[in-house]
Amino acid sequence: MAYNVTLIPGDGIGPEVTQAARRVLEATGIAFHWDVAYAGDVAQKMFGTPLPDQLLNSIKQNKVALKGPVTTPVGSGFRSINVALRKQLDLYACLRPCKIYPGVPTPFRNVDIVVVRENTEDLYSGIEFEAGAQDTARLIELVSKTKDRAHGEDTSFSLKVISRTASRRIARFAFDYARANNRKKVTAVHKANIMKFTDGLFLTAARQVAEEYTDIEFSNVIVDALCMQLVRAPQQFDVLVLPNLYGDIVSDLCAGLVGGLGVAPGANLGDDAAIFEATHGSAPRYAGQNKVNPVAMMLSGVMMLRHLGEINSAARLEKAIADVIAEGKNVTYDLKPGATGGQIAGTSQVADAVIEKMKASSSLK
Ligand code: NAD
Repeated sequence: MAYNVTLIPGDGIGPEVTQAARRVLEATGIAFHWDVAYAGDVAQKMFGTPLPDQLLNSIKQNKVALKGPVTTPVGSGFRSINVALRKQLDLYACLRPCKIYPGVPTPFRNVDIVVVRENTEDLYSGIEFEAGAQDTARLIELVSKTKDRAHGEDTSFSLKVISRTASRRIARFAFDYARANNRKKVTAVHKANIMKFTDGLFLTAARQVAEEYTDIEFSNVIVDALCMQLVRAPQQFDVLVLPNLYGDIVSDLCAGLVGGLGVAPGANLGDDAAIFEATHGSAPRYAGQNKVNPVAMMLSGVMMLRHLGEINSAARLEKAIADVIAEGKNVTYDLKPGATGGQIAGTSQVADAVIEKMKASSSLK
């Protein structure tokens, strides 16, 4: 049987890293039927829309996608495809495991944190009021009347939206993940001392859900204190659950602890579909150079195999990737600071090395 998987190459470095991930996934011996679909600027040029129906229908049908990063134009142009995809498919949980593989250059030791980020609301609601617009003037009037606060007409607003339903759902996801993966502690992250209604609601929801999971320890921490503690002693954290924006920022921080964006995988999960993609973006200035690290994308592929129930193949692929990193011969520039020229592998050479490791491990059996 072949698994039907939607493959979104993305843009920038996306096509190179997804190709590397596709090759190592196929080398596990599992059969895939890749349904290639386009998003973002590439799709805009091909179909006149950055998010074509073909893409959404493919993911709805296959329920699983492997996705390269897609560039989001800053300031003008279409809104983030990534945000739109997560909303349209209700991929409410973003899962980002951050663990140190031996051989990765980092001053930290024994970090193994899982970041669970709420994906559908918060400041990503997309409800924005532009300075000078008519509806913004009405909002300024409403705030002035109801909250007795004056704002000039040169003010813009972005709405932070947090609901009990979404907060409970993501908290439950974090506890279920902890239970299924033998994790001991879930920490809810917030700024409820300042944003009493939004973050306060998130924290209350997490506390209530925690009561249903007496086998898992629960704690909470204010987001700024968390950032300091992550840099001082990251080993104290296990599973973190956060609203959308803090989740975005903290997952990059955690990626930094474990060796950078080149080794940070991720998944966006809902009840009906799952998209596996690295934490990093499209890094346009490296596009087409066969230079960047495909490990984050390959490890996202490992997560996809686990999601598909292919536990043994996931373990084999993860071990092959870990062995290549530990050996340090065929790794990209970001894992070899100070190295030059021939000492550094390109994107496709890393994939070759991982495939060799898998072949070697199966011939030993
Ligand atoms: P980025 O992650 O693309 O790149 C930042 C820097 O991180 C790069 O310059 C590079 O030094 C390093 N880096 C990233 N990926 C790497 C890899 N695989 N190997 C080695 N080094 C790597 O972040 P950015 O520059 O802020 O974003 C570029 C574009 O990507 C933006 O348009 C952004 O909106 C988009 N983006 C997309 C996604 C997604 O599709 N899921 C996620 C994040 C950002």
